[in-house]
Amino acid sequence: MTTFFISDLHLCAQRPAITELFLDFLRREARHADALYILGDLFEYWIGDEAASQDEFRPIVDGMRELTDAGLPLFVMRGNRDFLMGAEFERKSGCRLIRDPIVVDLNDTPVLLMHGDTLCTDDHEYQAFRRRVRSADFVHEFLRKSVAERDAIVRQIRETSKLVTAKKRPDIMDVNQQAVEAVMRTHGVRHLIHGHTHRPGQHVFDLDGERARREVLGDWYEQGSVLRCDPKERSLQAIPLGRLYGTRSALPAE
Ligand code: MN
Repeated sequence: MTTFFISDLHLCAQRPAITELFLDFLRREARHADALYILGDLFEYWIGDEAASQDEFRPIVDGMRELTDAGLPLFVMRGNRDFLMGAEFERKSGCRLIRDPIVVDLNDTPVLLMHGDTLCTDDHEYQAFRRRVRSADFVHEFLRKSVAERDAIVRQIRETSKLVTAKKRPDIMDVNQQAVEAVMRTHGVRHLIHGHTHRPGQHVFDLDGERARREVLGDWYEQGSVLRCDPKERSLQAIPLGRLYGTRSALPAE
């Protein structure tokens, strides 16, 4: 079983080369995998499933559809940027939306998958914002607005967020270790894979006397970043812009 994990592609019209790289990845590498998981922030923003038919996003949804039509199980978790992905997106792309967090069986090991933003508990401002925009009332009101109005609101939120983020201490925006341990205990796992922080790497630590691992996926700003898991090896691969190839990484085989 070869399973790929990616996250934080932040696909949008402003970075066409990254969209091309993703479509290329779907057509080539992903086609030969047994499953592909996208752990949030596939899109830079998602104003609701009407976006699936906008010129900016339609080729992406179609590319996903080609893959799922070919029989590949494609699982998509909502991130903080695209949490409004819903049933229509699921139907058009052929993917299956999965909840955050979720435990999956990966080559006979239970692994917890998350986007990762809920682990950044030191960032109180962000967590308050998250609660507000993900409340049923906010979502209901937002989705009633026209596409143009929603686009305008999202643009404004992104501008504000850029200013706020630039002023924050970097460590505040990383995960909190106690939050990591708590969620792993709750789900009874020793393996966690997440994205969101854009700090790719692997962290090994002791959890109640056992060895635990947290693997962090990279973003797709300058290149692609893919965690490849198969029974014998596990590697975080970089995909340079324009061409697809894998480099072995620091991640040792399990
Ligand atoms: Mn994110």
